[in-house]
Amino acid sequence: MKIRFYGTRGSIPICEPQYQEFGGNTTCVLVEVSDNIGILDAGTGIRNLGKELVTDQHLGIDRPVFIAFSHFHWDHIQGLPFFLPAYDAKRHFIISAIGRERYGKDLKSIFQMQMQRDYFPVPLDGMGAAIDFHQTDEDSLVFENVTAKALKHNHPGDAYSFRIEGKRDGKVLVFCTDIEHGDEVDSNIVELAKDADLLIHEAQYTPDELPKHKGWGHSSWEQAVEVAKRASVKKLAITHHDPDHDDAFLRNVEKQVQAQFPNAVLAREKMEIEI
Ligand SMILES: [Zn+2]
Ligand SMILES: [Zn+2]
Repeated sequence: MKIRFYGTRGSIPICEPQYQEFGGNTTCVLVEVSDNIGILDAGTGIRNLGKELVTDQHLGIDRPVFIAFSHFHWDHIQGLPFFLPAYDAKRHFIISAIGRERYGKDLKSIFQMQMQRDYFPVPLDGMGAAIDFHQTDEDSLVFENVTAKALKHNHPGDAYSFRIEGKRDGKVLVFCTDIEHGDEVDSNIVELAKDADLLIHEAQYTPDELPKHKGWGHSSWEQAVEVAKRASVKKLAITHHDPDHDDAFLRNVEKQVQAQFPNAVLAREKMEIEI
């Protein structure tokens, strides 16, 4: 299983030079499992991913590509109108929202609204690719070589973590972003992440910053490390970096994280991890 980060920033894209080591684009992760590729969230990072898919024609052309959403806050959907392959009539995408208690809103309408004329010149139905919408109250999905399980976690408006398993290689990726654990880390997330080969966990804040942002929906790196340790994951990648944390700041955070959990990294744009 191959994982590639195209967006690692939380909340809003940023372009100043002192943020470029870790990257300025918002959340988007490409997952390759055997012959299948899937995309987690469509923050602004999906624009560069789209350009690579168009250049690298073997990827995602012969079978549908799932784009799975943790939730629909701006920083997780903002790149979709700029995703070039979605304008290619030969391609097929499945926009997916799995998980119990997804609130009742029609999935397609979320994206139609984002692209209505007041906000964007091209409507969703004018993009060109076949785009299906897969919305289910089931908490799991089996598709060709992949199984995925979704679990709701605490975030304003709710968000979902995913456990993705490769059927052939047995490798496990857990993706957990935009989560506010509260005073204790969520034991259900620890369970979901159990023995994962890679846990991608957000950490917008330092432990000092966290108490000042109660109700904002995010975690500290200390909580990400705690989940990783309690779940005995093999590797931890921290993402959703705060837009005010520059490269020097994040390098320092990374050292503190690695002192507590050596097999950890702070995700950088274009970073690839093979598990
Ligand atoms: Zn976010
Ligand atoms: Zn959010």
